[in-house]
Amino acid sequence: MIKLDRPECPNPDALRRNNYKDAMNKAALKNAANDKCMYCESVISHIDFAHIEHIKPKARYPEFEFEWNNLGYACPRCNNSKSDKYEQDNPYIDPYKDIPSNFVFASGAILFVRNGSERGEVTIKGIQLNRPDLLEKRLEKIRDIERALTACHRTNSKPLREAAIEELQNEALPEKEYSFITKAFIEAHTQ
Ligand SMILES: [Zn+2]
Repeated sequence: MIKLDRPECPNPDALRRNNYKDAMNKAALKNAANDKCMYCESVISHIDFAHIEHIKPKARYPEFEFEWNNLGYACPRCNNSKSDKYEQDNPYIDPYKDIPSNFVFASGAILFVRNGSERGEVTIKGIQLNRPDLLEKRLEKIRDIERALTACHRTNSKPLREAAIEELQNEALPEKEYSFITKAFIEAHTQ
């Protein structure tokens, strides 16, 4: 999970008309999340319908159902895992407001709780951010990076090696799938 910037709401009228699924608003959220799920960073496939996520579940907080700051862009898996669970005292990490790396960190393909953070724990468990299918996809990504890093480290020329590592760092840009774990992995192995 990475920090996201919340865009201006392009069509506030739709929200005033009690429509949170407006296409323009959905597109803005999608774009702000780099076409990925705001929680698990999976690229949301064209087959799956992306969900407009209510950060505070609408079933329990109907007053926030049409509130722009309560809307996000999530994959059906995360949205369904989260369901109507929400603890006021330990809310899920909101990547539009919070800096996720203050609450969780990645080691390899796995997300861990940082410094005993209860919000980190609630988020990882409640949204199932280490679910097996997700771990498998993240591990695949880590293995690709590992192969590329091995090739970089075995390059004899220092300038070539540095250039190759720099290029590899593009894989950790926010628009790339699973950039959070990729960034951590590259940082840990290019010291
Ligand atoms: Zn997701």
